[in-house]
Amino acid sequence: MKLATRLIHAGVEPDPATGAIMTPIYQTSTFVQESPGKHKGYEYARTQNPTRHALQNALAAAENGKYGLCFSSGSAATDAVITLLNPGDEVIAASDMYGGTYRLFTKIFQKYGIKFHFVSMQEASDVEKYINPQTRLIWTETPTNPMMRITDIAAVAAIAKKHQVLLCVDNTFASPYLQNPLDLGADLVVHSATKYLGGHSDTVLGAIIMNDPGLHEKLAFIQNSRGAVPGPQDCFLILRGLKTLHVRMERHCANGLVIARWLRADPRVDKVFWCGFEDHPNYEIARKQMRGFGGMMSFTLKEDSLDSAFKVLSSTKLFSLAESLGGVESLIGHPASMTHASIPREERLRNGLADSLIRLSVGIEDADDLVADLKQALG
Ligand SMILES: *Cc1c(COP(=O)(O)O)cnc(C)c1O
Repeated sequence: MKLATRLIHAGVEPDPATGAIMTPIYQTSTFVQESPGKHKGYEYARTQNPTRHALQNALAAAENGKYGLCFSSGSAATDAVITLLNPGDEVIAASDMYGGTYRLFTKIFQKYGIKFHFVSMQEASDVEKYINPQTRLIWTETPTNPMMRITDIAAVAAIAKKHQVLLCVDNTFASPYLQNPLDLGADLVVHSATKYLGGHSDTVLGAIIMNDPGLHEKLAFIQNSRGAVPGPQDCFLILRGLKTLHVRMERHCANGLVIARWLRADPRVDKVFWCGFEDHPNYEIARKQMRGFGGMMSFTLKEDSLDSAFKVLSSTKLFSLAESLGGVESLIGHPASMTHASIPREERLRNGLADSLIRLSVGIEDADDLVADLKQALG
């Protein structure tokens, strides 16, 4: 089955009790047993829930994976992956990833004796230099947030295999519509379903998708033991969002192209970071591993200052100033003071994250209206 069909049908069966075509919201904490241990596969809702079960299977199908596991947020999914590790283990992580992931690694897990190396993953060969006998995991995000750099997933997967190290890819920005890391050799895919998968800015939820039954068993154990599970209402909303992912993404990509080109031609804009430009340093890899380039982009202003960025950020009317991304409505954000505020300024600048850098999550409104809004805001 092709993706568009899988997104609508995979994992979802008519409700066995009533025939309801939409998976019901099983708002229950426990399930009645006939006799001790004799039940229909559901005992307690932290461990199993039918609504969550349907979503886990749907997400697995969306990523061409065998197993899906859902968590209360993307960060909880990330937390579960790192919980696989032991003190003394080492992780090689992309240097310009989501600020919350950086915070989780450095502020929570480092103190449990797990060591993180932050490395630019634009050149896969750079990753290999940091591998030693303690390395257990390579963590990457591609395209990266907010610089839109690209990691060659297949090349890094080959290095991971050679050294028997796990590769986990945060696929939140691309979504399964644009890229499937498991097909390229990754062991684990993490999603903040809060973003494109849900698509309507109304739910916080995370997921891990994988093929290996051993990893699934370990992560299901962590999911149940740590208990960071999503509620059935949230699972239902992501299931509903998933059904239109392909049509939404088509428009995100089309609008992304229009806005990226328009920004690039505007005299007040300095650089535009979008992986669909042919002169993007990783364009060839992006074209090889992605089916489109999406609606996420960043740009800097010729007048590079916090003030000039703040002027634009407070002047847009359609682009709402807010954290998050991937919803139907367009958002504008300022990484230096918002998503990446926990990263020290020097480190931020070293990664190209200038003071005036503005990030856009281009929504699916009419492209002409979006251009007009940016035009008046850059004023
Ligand atoms: C938002 C985000 C996360 C964290 O997900 P939450 O659902 O907010 O916990 C992780 N990675 C990326 C790339 C994100 O954009």
